[in-house]
Amino acid sequence: AAVIVRGDPYRLEQLHAHAHHVPNEIVLPKGHNVNFGAPVGTMVNLGGGKVVEAGYANECSAAQLAAAINASTAAILYIKSHHCVQKSILSVAEAAEVAKAHGLPLIVDAAAEEDLRLYYNQGADLVIYSGAKAIEGPTSGLVLGKRQYVEWVKQQANGIGRAMKVGKEGILGLTHAIERYLAKEKESGAAMVAKMTPFIECLNQLPGVTAKVAWDSAGRDIARTDIAFDHQQIGMTTVQVVNRLQQGTPAIYCRGYKANEGHIEIDVRSVTVPQLDQIHSAIANLVQENR
Ligand SMILES: *Cc1c(COP(=O)(O)O)cnc(C)c1O
Repeated sequence: AAVIVRGDPYRLEQLHAHAHHVPNEIVLPKGHNVNFGAPVGTMVNLGGGKVVEAGYANECSAAQLAAAINASTAAILYIKSHHCVQKSILSVAEAAEVAKAHGLPLIVDAAAEEDLRLYYNQGADLVIYSGAKAIEGPTSGLVLGKRQYVEWVKQQANGIGRAMKVGKEGILGLTHAIERYLAKEKESGAAMVAKMTPFIECLNQLPGVTAKVAWDSAGRDIARTDIAFDHQQIGMTTVQVVNRLQQGTPAIYCRGYKANEGHIEIDVRSVTVPQLDQIHSAIANLVQENR
């Protein structure tokens, strides 16, 4: 909405009332048009924009991104996320070059990212973080970027942004979470590996279970425990394992995106060693029950 309204008071108030005949196309690599829990297209529509996909499901070069730009383009959107296709897609810095060459803003959705400066330094005009992911604050969002664009975002508090209003207690909570986040020593990937190694060794003693370290597919310094299940040996599918873990006491939510391929991932950030023991016991009980 900020990059379509661009401070115009009439468009701010009449965003969805009628067509405005100003640029409203938001160009993004096709492999970034994902469902992160809600579809990117719906979110863009909410702000008065229309998604235009560049490239193909499995590739998008700088030239392919540029080819999707026309006089109706309002911004380029880059989604930095494990949800996206990673291979053969241009980098944020390359997307920033394309944006600059066309006089367009680059918006980076960095919802789950950990570095609050990286993408801005790489040339993004607006960088969006979830307040409740890496920052570990309350449900909220944080937008960093070039002053003019940030001002236009703030103005949306009197437009479509009102529907996403964060309360004063949420703002205080987020501010505190950001202060803590910036001050706190970050748990390194290597420390995560050290924490999960005994967990992995115990899991590997269970019949039909194979565990190993898996590094973050989006390139962050995060290690997770990848667990593969042998459906024959454990007598259930991995999708069933995911559901049963969620229904247990305590409820265990894992990364189940690859359950269809027989794998799950356990994200060990903020998980203590006694909690890893509980996860191990829950999995041990499940895989032994049908034997
Ligand atoms: C999680 C996520 C969001 C939304 O963040 P919330 O704080 O949950 O609203 C947006 N984009 C991507 C890529 C995400 O992963």
